[in-house]
Amino acid sequence: MHIDLLKAVENEQYSIEGSIKGDNTLFEYRNLKFDGDINFKGSYILRKGDLSVIGELTAKLDAQCDRCLKDVEINIKLPFNETFHANADKGEYAIENNKAVLDEAAYQNILLNIPSKILCKEDCKGICALCGCDLNNHDCDCRSDSDDNNPFAILKNIVGGAKNGGTKK
Ligand SMILES: [Zn+2]
Ligand SMILES: [Zn+2]
Repeated sequence: MHIDLLKAVENEQYSIEGSIKGDNTLFEYRNLKFDGDINFKGSYILRKGDLSVIGELTAKLDAQCDRCLKDVEINIKLPFNETFHANADKGEYAIENNKAVLDEAAYQNILLNIPSKILCKEDCKGICALCGCDLNNHDCDCRSDSDDNNPFAILKNIVGGAKNGGTKK
């Protein structure tokens, strides 16, 4: 999505609306995917050759709960406020050939606002590490079992023994 500045008059405000293709390579480090396009609605104004664009970004992301791996939908709704420069310095967004391309700025804004922890609900209990059941739906016996019945109890003893070994005489 880009803004064409050839006909833009300085200090005049224009509305703009459009969509940007969701780029899933952004999220290679996480299990996230765009569900459809990113939408932008806002306005722009040209001042002394620089373009300021303000508005709102909306997008939908498909993700998984960090604890129980259930599918989670994340609705992104972000204020957008960026300046595109006629003579851009390093790290600034540039106007090139009378055009300002919004895609990269939109991606960066979204990336910065992805929650660090994605949960299906705040108190998600996750998955039992021993039997793999979803603890939100089941109460498994893995933790409440007494050590006698728990096949993993013997492992606990070995680990504990090793830890204490050095201090015992
Ligand atoms: Zn969950
Ligand atoms: Zn279990």
